Amino acid sequence: MGFKLTSKDYADYLNRVTDFLATKKDYITDLDSATGDGDHWANMNQGFQKLKEKHDILASQSIPKMLLDTGMTLMSTIGGSSGVLYGSGYMSASKALNEAEYIDIDNLYVLLNSMLKGIMDRGDAVPGYKTMIDALYPAVSVLKHDLDNHEDETKTLNDVKQVAVEGAEKTRDMESVKGRASYQLNKGVGHLDPGAVTMSYLIVELMDYTLERGKQV
Ligand code: ADP
Ligand code: MG
Repeated sequence: MGFKLTSKDYADYLNRVTDFLATKKDYITDLDSATGDGDHWANMNQGFQKLKEKHDILASQSIPKMLLDTGMTLMSTIGGSSGVLYGSGYMSASKALNEAEYIDIDNLYVLLNSMLKGIMDRGDAVPGYKTMIDALYPAVSVLKHDLDNHEDETKTLNDVKQVAVEGAEKTRDMESVKGRASYQLNKGVGHLDPGAVTMSYLIVELMDYTLERGKQV
């Protein structure tokens, strides 16, 4: 396949994920009402709508600048923890890709891995804590595994999608260690973590967008 995403491609992906998130208002709000304070969808929607407004600016920037601007926009627009966490994730990705001219499969790994590190450092959380990390961590792991084994790109992107969704699903049985669900008596057991579900959406949309772009090169 050999895809190479530009900043315009990434900004187009952000538009697409914003439109997808917009369709999930009730579902995500209900998830966060069960284990948290019910604002997760509103937070994410606010942040991503702002990115959509900035589409043309983001599209015209270098890859590291576009990632930095994305992180700073999310951090300053989203009130809840997810703003700080996504902000830190994107800022860390911007640093790791400070010389990148495009995002190919190797840079996609650098992007997602550094985002994971940024979020884990900022939130002082690890996999298994019933958070957004539980969708991102398996995605990064399978991407690394498939790259090391020189798997076909289409298979790799599909694997990443699949484990992100499965990872979010697994949060249902986890006991929350960080975030508002950890204040609940039953630690949110029996409910999906809203942040893991939205993280899985972001990953699935990125993989789908990349699979489509890949077909065109
Ligand atoms: P808030 O918890 O401030 O209301 P949101 O509702 O926007 O913020 O986001 C909640 C989500 O943030 C959770 O579902 C969880 O996935 C994620 N989260 C919370 N705390 C952490 C943390 N320390 N590390 C990683 N993710 C976290
Ligand atoms: Mg909340």
